[in-house]
Amino acid sequence: MLAMDYRGPKRVRVTQKPMPEIKHPEDAIIRVTRSCICGSDLHLYNGNVPDTRVGTTFGHEFVGIVEEIGSEVTKLKVGDHVLVPFNIACGRCHFCKQGLFGNCHESNPMATAVGGIFGYSHTAGGFNGGQAEYVRVPYANVSPTVIPEGMHIEDAVMLTDVVPTGYQAAEMGGIQPGDTVVVFGAGPVGIMAAKCSWLFGAGRVIIIDHVEYRLEFARNYAQCEAYNFREMEDPVVFIKKTTDWMGADVVIDAVGAEAAGNTMQTITGRKTLLQAGSATALHWAINSVKKGGIVSIVGVYGPTDNLVPIGNVLNKGLTIRANQASVKRLLPRLIEHVQNGIINPKALITHRIPLEEVADGYRLFSAKLDNCIKPVLIPPSARM
Ligand SMILES: [Zn+2]
Ligand SMILES: [Zn+2]
Repeated sequence: MLAMDYRGPKRVRVTQKPMPEIKHPEDAIIRVTRSCICGSDLHLYNGNVPDTRVGTTFGHEFVGIVEEIGSEVTKLKVGDHVLVPFNIACGRCHFCKQGLFGNCHESNPMATAVGGIFGYSHTAGGFNGGQAEYVRVPYANVSPTVIPEGMHIEDAVMLTDVVPTGYQAAEMGGIQPGDTVVVFGAGPVGIMAAKCSWLFGAGRVIIIDHVEYRLEFARNYAQCEAYNFREMEDPVVFIKKTTDWMGADVVIDAVGAEAAGNTMQTITGRKTLLQAGSATALHWAINSVKKGGIVSIVGVYGPTDNLVPIGNVLNKGLTIRANQASVKRLLPRLIEHVQNGIINPKALITHRIPLEEVADGYRLFSAKLDNCIKPVLIPPSARM
């Protein structure tokens, strides 16, 4: 089968790989119909995630048709068109039982923090992902969900990560009616977090980035204020000023480990790798939230330390909340929101790229060319 293949930092290609096989009675094999490239795949692509092994296939956002099932799979049948959450969850461990499907204790043998994730390095279990024609899906009775009748598969593929991650960012913010919410990062997840902040009763939503076309997109899609930090002296001062010097009630970090905007962070975190990525957005979040406020983090950081202003966290009495989205927990509500037209996720998809051209897809997305917001890969069999 055709599959994306990681060769080393900034080098990916499409290649022929053996078909995945059922290895456990609860496995399913899915024939992929759409798979996305995610902003967090760029951290892998750029070599910023530890233990990203050459020869692996990325892709944690995909939908497809059930091709084969193991003898203990009861919830799916061959031919079902399913959306597969990016978290691999066993459904029965201590954490899954609490709805913390992103923190499953069984799906990632290396797990002290995160559970298994498709195509996201051996720190997340070493599973191959969906940027391929076929993919093996473990614990197929737990998270994969049949796409509801009438739902477009490109809306469904956005429900595997972007929509629930954006929604959970807003949910973790504990937004109270009338709150001012600031979102750092106008990628698909940041835009979705801004959009969902309104659903929790925000009174004002501000998004901050430096890519002009994305700010423009966010303004239209999420009906929020959008500002370019390159045009302000200091985003922290800007946010204080616009909130009567109180600071924002809730700040969401939807950037993660490859933030631009601070020379010292860029040198220590991206050029010399003295810390696990540049924590610029996190600095800004901690410093621009009001005292007693909530910082919600969904941007991806590596497992090791960053030079964050932790003393300010103490002195301001902050609540910081962070996690990988627990997609399965959020799906029932989000499916309803999509079906009722409250969220229109496929509008974020700007590029549809043949799987064979995956290398071009990564190049275009990572260089933010051609006004790209969200690229989706289409395997040959799904184009017929
Ligand atoms: Zn993703
Ligand atoms: Zn579990």
